[in-house]
Amino acid sequence: YAGDYVAPSNLLKDKIILVTGAGDGIGKVAAKTFAAHGATVILLGRTTPKLEMAYDEIEAAGGPQPAIFPMDLNEAKIEHFESFAEAIEQEFGRLDGLLHNASLLGQRTPLANYNFSAWQQVMQVNVNAVFGLTNTLLPLLEKSEAGSVVFTSSSVGLKGRAYWGAYSVSKFATEGLMQVLADELDGVSNVRVNSLNPGATRTPMRATAYPAENPKSVAAPEEIMPTYLYLMGDDSRSQSGKHFSAQKR
Ligand code: NDP
Repeated sequence: YAGDYVAPSNLLKDKIILVTGAGDGIGKVAAKTFAAHGATVILLGRTTPKLEMAYDEIEAAGGPQPAIFPMDLNEAKIEHFESFAEAIEQEFGRLDGLLHNASLLGQRTPLANYNFSAWQQVMQVNVNAVFGLTNTLLPLLEKSEAGSVVFTSSSVGLKGRAYWGAYSVSKFATEGLMQVLADELDGVSNVRVNSLNPGATRTPMRATAYPAENPKSVAAPEEIMPTYLYLMGDDSRSQSGKHFSAQKR
């Protein structure tokens, strides 16, 4: 647990950090928070105007100039990941941090009723694209002095829950991906990989999953940022292969 972490204001100075799903919810706040701590952030997402808004807010706050990369992870093929990696290589030469944040909630229904193509979409965005991005970006992360990959998990990624379908299964897969990669990199790489469960957080996804809940009753994305900062900054260099929870409850 690193929710009490207090980050120095220059924690991420000169770091290049990619955030997926950076146009809304937790990803947008994480991108703005990383920039406020000195990082140059690469904003990846599927809705360009939302990415532009995040970009403008970062610039207005005086952060380092970010980069925008629109990509629909549901449609993305390996060629897209490869040209994305080439673009980062040309522009920055390396990658210091990768926050896998974009996810689809998918259907909330019993498996017996779950639609196959809805299942495939969730697995595509939440698992296959996460693997594809990680796989193509690993050489650039290896060029960092201390690269950090953070996979976004969920409580339903540790214990299955009725009606959470592909989303729950995709988060189990996320934990698996993190653990396999951490074991492979252990002792032979500067890159560390961990998973992070944000816990109940006030976002569009949460409102869709719990329409009857008062949004004010759950944490705002800003409140869970200490753990995000801890995992992206050098204070977590010795941590790898671990599951973190951003909230105590
Ligand atoms: P939101 O749905 O609010 O935001 C997700 C972001 O990901 C959006 O910006 C969305 O883009 C983007 N995204 C979705 N699909 C794609 C795609 N195909 N290609 C590119 N970008 C895409 O989610 P949260 O902020 O709530 O969640 C962030 C992470 O935290 C997720 O991994 C989620 O599973 C996890 N999480 C959240 C919890 C919560 O309570 N909020 C609890 C536990 C885990 P667009 O804006 O265009 O839709």
